[in-house]
Amino acid sequence: MESLFTPSSRLALFQFCRAQPIFGFDFDGTLTPVIADRNAAWLPLGVRRRLARLARQVPCVVISGRGYSDVLRRVRGIPWQAVVGNHGAESVPRLANLEKSEKLVREWHEFLQERFALFPGIDIEDKRFSLTIHYREVKDPKKALRFIQKTLKQLSAHHLIGGKLVVNLLPLGLPNKGTALRMLQKRLKAPRAFYVGDDLTDEDVFVLGRPRTLFSVRIGKRRPSQARYYVPAQSDIEALLDLLLEAVAR
Ligand SMILES: [Mg+2]
Repeated sequence: MESLFTPSSRLALFQFCRAQPIFGFDFDGTLTPVIADRNAAWLPLGVRRRLARLARQVPCVVISGRGYSDVLRRVRGIPWQAVVGNHGAESVPRLANLEKSEKLVREWHEFLQERFALFPGIDIEDKRFSLTIHYREVKDPKKALRFIQKTLKQLSAHHLIGGKLVVNLLPLGLPNKGTALRMLQKRLKAPRAFYVGDDLTDEDVFVLGRPRTLFSVRIGKRRPSQARYYVPAQSDIEALLDLLLEAVAR
């Protein structure tokens, strides 16, 4: 992983942006700081202004783990080409058929509600096409995670993605962030994409890997990650957006 804030990385970014990529952004922990109360995450004004300026000039998409309508109301007012929720599965324009998933997720939710009632502090967020199990509020997070993993083993076909004191539970076969980004590129006829994210679900984008078609940036330097570049912290997002604005102005 290389820092994005070096002369050679900047140059690589400027060159990449000449080939008219689309620009993809994760939401939590990328455009906004991670905070304990997930309902209180809003775009800071400086980020919002820069994003709006960028999205007026080049195609921008946001791909979040939140439910679609949840993320939409937090990023409204920016001329996105697409807003994608549920880790890639739920979007406008639509990318996948979700009826079966909705039914399955409803069954999981009922089952887990009963089980997790035994463990105070574990909170299930129902995002209609996926569940996020939060254990930020429990006394012993390690014990909680073991309990969650053991319980989830009893469920049918699912895909798990870990995260920052959360476990994401998704039906198999749905688009992930990586496949969603590729589908959007196809639609927008853009062979190249820039993408920035901070968490494990963003690795589904980072593994797409090929440097000629993907310019990947992780918030925070961490190994192992498949991202090629990093910026040190979420607070660097405004500097990163300034760099993108400079790159597309060239
Ligand atoms: Mg994130």
